Amino acid sequence: MSFADEVREELCELPIKKTCCQKALTAGLLLSAHEDEGKMVKVRYKNEMVATLASAMIRRQYGKAPESEMRGACGHRFYDLSFSSPSFHKLYMQLRDTKNEVQSILRFACDGCRAMFLRGAFLALGTLNDPHKSFHLEFLLPDERMADVLSGELAKVGYPPRRITRKNGVGLYFKDSGSVEDVVALMGAQHTIFEIINSRIERDIRNNENRATNCVAKNIEKTISAATRQIEAINLLMEHGKLDRLPEFLRVSAMVRYRNPDATLDELVALHDPPISKSGLNHRLAKLLSEAEEL
Ligand SMILES: [Zn+2]
Repeated sequence: MSFADEVREELCELPIKKTCCQKALTAGLLLSAHEDEGKMVKVRYKNEMVATLASAMIRRQYGKAPESEMRGACGHRFYDLSFSSPSFHKLYMQLRDTKNEVQSILRFACDGCRAMFLRGAFLALGTLNDPHKSFHLEFLLPDERMADVLSGELAKVGYPPRRITRKNGVGLYFKDSGSVEDVVALMGAQHTIFEIINSRIERDIRNNENRATNCVAKNIEKTISAATRQIEAINLLMEHGKLDRLPEFLRVSAMVRYRNPDATLDELVALHDPPISKSGLNHRLAKLLSEAEEL
């Protein structure tokens, strides 16, 4: 099984209590859907667990289970779902129409909805490399419009993806470990996060071994000036009330930094619970700086 499929199976098993979040998850799961004749909606999944989850979600929301069909041979199986629902058809047509603002169509009701939408999109369209080999998270959308839809949602949580044209669609991707880690955390894959952090730590240790050790003084100086800049940035974000609007994990890291002005990066890492890697924290601090720069 691929690493991405392991992540999918982890995500499929997580319970979702709120109806609004279930709705958001379903919208994500159906990002790759296309319209067939007679207002039928069709969607294809490569993973059986995802197809089963999508089927249950569709039944719950649209009142009727979709027709499900398995195609292909062992190792290259597809699970095709098809259903007709006037309300989904309407949503689908609205999403496709470039004149519409995505935000006004999806209408997420609670703070958790957007994360569930991203989870659904990953289940349907995502790939994630084994972090022990490389950091690469990608969503493969069927066309530019749907890529715009997902890209907009990722940007809203602070992670605008890079874009690439692939032969079978449009890829939205992240290659830096900090973004990969944060987006996976947002989707709720806790087990995967630990794997990513572990591989980061292994990599950090290897890199440190190779690094010269006679620049301690220089590093201390760097740490102090970096800390000063970070605290100034956090102050500015608080003054403008912008800090409260940032995602929770950024607020948590901001407060840890703010309350420990003299701490080194390693000490700040140790103050995080749930744990975070050094590069993950670095990424968050850089994010806070760039948010402050916008002010
Ligand atoms: Zn919700």
